[in-house]
Amino acid sequence: MITASPDARITPSPSVTHTDWRQSWRDAVTDGGELLAMVGLQHLAGRLPLADAGFPLRVPRGFVARMRHGDPRDPLLLQVLPQLAELEQVAGFVTDAVGDLDARAAHGLLHKYQGRALLIASGSCAINCRYCFRRHFPYGEEIAAAGQWRQAIEHLREDTSISELILSGGDPLALATPKLEELSHGLRELKHLIRLRIHSRLPVVLPERIDAPLLDWLGRLPLQKVVVLHANHANELDADVATACARLRDAGATLLNQSVLLRGINDDATVLADLSERLFAASVLPYYLHQLDRVEGTAHFEVTDARALALMDALRTRLPGYLVPKLVREVGGDCSKRPL
Ligand SMILES: *Cc1c(COP(=O)(O)O)cnc(C)c1O
Ligand code: SF4
Repeated sequence: MITASPDARITPSPSVTHTDWRQSWRDAVTDGGELLAMVGLQHLAGRLPLADAGFPLRVPRGFVARMRHGDPRDPLLLQVLPQLAELEQVAGFVTDAVGDLDARAAHGLLHKYQGRALLIASGSCAINCRYCFRRHFPYGEEIAAAGQWRQAIEHLREDTSISELILSGGDPLALATPKLEELSHGLRELKHLIRLRIHSRLPVVLPERIDAPLLDWLGRLPLQKVVVLHANHANELDADVATACARLRDAGATLLNQSVLLRGINDDATVLADLSERLFAASVLPYYLHQLDRVEGTAHFEVTDARALALMDALRTRLPGYLVPKLVREVGGDCSKRPL
């Protein structure tokens, strides 16, 4: 008989949508000393870097609540806590690791892969993940505010080879729902567009964002819908996240997850297997496991390719094929993500 491990079961909680997500967004922790005190590690405050390397600490309180108290190696804490190691210059780690910062900035629409175009719908995030390329991409709200996506829609109208629009960022769900309405309104005449994909970390880090107006918007969209979450560790997925996922699925979205392979956080076969199991328990399938973009200030998170491949072998022997993510790297100029 096969029994699920208790860890793999998540009971959705009914309470999520009663908080205004904008309030939770504004209430995020931005002070390192406060964060350490919240998790019982105030004695480590002296080890915080004095400078934030241009990328401030930012983490929603609900995400902090999922950290283990008193554990300096907690995998959620390590994703957001500034480290002295970020200030080291390491050869090969550059500010524009994927090579399209200009394209991202100037047009808001990236059309690198056949049939899919990616719109930088918002430059904002609720959380600042230390390993992210965005640490060198401080565009804030300007992208949406400047109305650049109206230009992008013109491009989509003219290029009938594009059947899928990907909303990315930053975090596209950082946009207020009326903005999303406005955007999708602009898409309604594009007969060649069959799918809308949203890449967002908000269902995980600020599940109250998945509120009734958002679900109503999503539910009414006359397109196929895919939501790609971003979780790196099973501990990120609590009952509120499971509820948010269930609601997205009920609104007609297919749910996938992408992770980044991070040393000291999820470079372990058991940790990755638990993540896949917990995702599936929330109706989410693992999609990609990304090798880190070689972004300045992130070298301490890097996992070697040899170790990454060994982890994938271990995962394949432990999990059903549909719970094994694809290990990929983004290489500038390629016409798809590159499998390892
Ligand atoms: C990653 C990415 C996509 C999506 O690639 P998939 O393999 O379809 O997930 C599309 N456009 C750009 C520019 C990307 O970076
Ligand atoms: S883009 Fe994603 S990974 Fe990067 S800081 Fe924002 S939420 Fe984190």
